[in-house]
Amino acid sequence: MASVKVAVRVRPLNKRERDMTAKVCIHMEGKKTTISSPGVEDKDFSYDFSYWSADSKDRHFASQEQVFEDLGTDVIQSAFEGYNACIFAYGQTGAGKSYSMMGQDSAPGLIPRICQGLYSRMDSSGDDKTEFRTEVSYLEIYNEKVGDLLRPAKGKDKFNLKVREHPKEGPYVQDLTKHVVKDYQGIENLMVEGNTNRTVASTNMNDVSSRSHAIFTILFTQAKFYTDMPSETVSKIHLVDLAGSENAVLKDAKKKLFIPYRNSVLTWLLKDSLGGNAKTIMIAAISPADVNYSETLSTLRYANRAKNIINKPTVNEDPNV
Ligand code: ADP
Ligand code: MG
Repeated sequence: MASVKVAVRVRPLNKRERDMTAKVCIHMEGKKTTISSPGVEDKDFSYDFSYWSADSKDRHFASQEQVFEDLGTDVIQSAFEGYNACIFAYGQTGAGKSYSMMGQDSAPGLIPRICQGLYSRMDSSGDDKTEFRTEVSYLEIYNEKVGDLLRPAKGKDKFNLKVREHPKEGPYVQDLTKHVVKDYQGIENLMVEGNTNRTVASTNMNDVSSRSHAIFTILFTQAKFYTDMPSETVSKIHLVDLAGSENAVLKDAKKKLFIPYRNSVLTWLLKDSLGGNAKTIMIAAISPADVNYSETLSTLRYANRAKNIINKPTVNEDPNV
């Protein structure tokens, strides 16, 4: 049994907030995050990690590197042990979800760092009795419909993939392309391609990216030949950049805390990660600005409730394959 690990991360004030002479209303100390507003009692929350990324000159500043060291290395370790793992980023549009998950060329986020970490560990394993296989898929959910970010269909067929359930392997997306990758460069190319497809969609279709969920999935298989009886472990890693939490659909999910799995494609596809067979981490991204007080407070409350989701991760091992 393992509860969802929860991190909250605050980004710097942006230009719009500075132009409005917004004040910083978030304070962090150790694991504690406090939100304040004049005339209202301060509200304290405690998380596994409270990341102060608002000011790079602060000695408590949490860099992309730091976030990876704390959270990403866990995912890599889980994958090698044969557990499913999931990281999802939650928060209002512009709060820093994609920055934490994908990042920028000059400051890569969790997804590229985790992929790189997986490959460097495979390359240095020196274990000639284990064969590794890595497959990647990348999808987007928009208005309860699923599209493939790596082989996008054109026009109105863009979001037309069907969600199914396999009796043993659980929920899956029919016809979603899975790409075998041999090295980090291969994975990086797919990442860039998928991100470009997501961006193209958002310029064509009224900001799809703030209303869509993106799920980057790595299927990591280790075939082990230590004895006459080979065995195989399979780990599924979901790295999820959720739609902006101000989005109405998510507001509903917030009330029900992700539990009504069948009510949305997202919770259905991620049901292993939310109260099932996976080690799950949630990053709640927030703005530091008082002008976003109520949306930030609701994100902090949501993150607080996510601590109560209990998973039951087990090693996915298939002996004698
Ligand atoms: P979201 O995906 O939640 O809509 P983004 O990740 O796109 O938000 O972040 C919005 C803007 O804020 C981007 O320009 C991004 O580079 C910047 N940003 C977000 N988080 C950070 C951070 N921790 N440090 C520096 N800049 C950040
Ligand atoms: Mg984003």
